[in-house]
Amino acid sequence: MKTRSISFLLVIILSGLFSCVPAKTAKVKTNKEIRNVILMIGDGMGLATLYSAMTVSPQPLNIERCPETGLAKTYASDNYITDSAAAGTALATGNKTKNGVIGMDAQGNRVKSILEIAESHGLSTGMVSTSSITHATPASFVAHQSSRGSYEDIAKDLMITGIDVFIGGGYDHFAKRKDKLNLADSLRKMGYDVETSMESVLNSGSLKIAGLTAPVHHPYRLKGRGDMLPNASGKAIDVLSKNKKGFFLMIEGSQIDWAGHANSADTLVDETLDFDKTIGRVLDFAQNDGHTLVIITADHETGGVTLVDGNMQDHKVKIAFSKKDHTAVCVPVFAFGPGAEKFAGIYDNTDIFRKIMAAYGFQQ
Ligand code: MG
Ligand code: ZN
Repeated sequence: MKTRSISFLLVIILSGLFSCVPAKTAKVKTNKEIRNVILMIGDGMGLATLYSAMTVSPQPLNIERCPETGLAKTYASDNYITDSAAAGTALATGNKTKNGVIGMDAQGNRVKSILEIAESHGLSTGMVSTSSITHATPASFVAHQSSRGSYEDIAKDLMITGIDVFIGGGYDHFAKRKDKLNLADSLRKMGYDVETSMESVLNSGSLKIAGLTAPVHHPYRLKGRGDMLPNASGKAIDVLSKNKKGFFLMIEGSQIDWAGHANSADTLVDETLDFDKTIGRVLDFAQNDGHTLVIITADHETGGVTLVDGNMQDHKVKIAFSKKDHTAVCVPVFAFGPGAEKFAGIYDNTDIFRKIMAAYGFQQ
């Protein structure tokens, strides 16, 4: 009886050892140290909008490579339906705030963004946007203003963050200001390569790039923006990844939202496909790197998009809109890379900030 129970115990121990082997290798694979986080925001990219692009595309979208999905609740502190300022602030700082507010909590206190926190830990930081870099979404990562329309004050706030690379529109908010300051000159004095064309941005050899490649916003891709978003994102990754400590990069597909406001189905799909092309570039980098967590989400839905008919074989979709503004529905979240599994489930948009902080191992 005694020997039998011992041998039985031995079997348990041995089987435990053997079962450890595959478990351990699997663990090594998924527990790679997270050095870099790339947060991609499709402004106004609700699930119906994303599915319209999936339907139109002959190949699966790049976003479908993400193994983990979740849902984020988007409401603002003062409104069931958020704007991009409150939602951007929620994602950037982990605080619900009032619509229109940038980088401050609901009580009006300035709150640090993940970009500012990453910078203070010695990581490189960057932002890419097809809108003005001072517009609500990117502004939420670098500024603290009670009104999202204070573009020139937002530009001033950006100057003191230490951000390494930013590429987007908004040259006029730096260099053609009411206060006559020329912040483009100030940026040059601070060591930035200030460039106003995408070609010169892509050719820059600097580790600090201020790419102000449109006076205010870039045009829609259907109106001539070309590959600005994927190219700018690739360039930002090239530069930021030179920092072996790691980096934080925010990439925004800004104009999915504008197509939703305009109830323009063709533009809505095209801007989403442009964002997905950018996702392809980002995921290729993350896959090779192995230390990069990629999170892809939206700040809110725009247009009340409904897919009323379509055909997967012909790649055709019929889109109806119920609104010319944002709606309240929760938005999808996609994650790729080490730590991606933490983004499964249903949670507040503010939790995305907390999950990123935890991924970096920063104290909260
Ligand atoms: Mg935006
Ligand atoms: Zn909007």
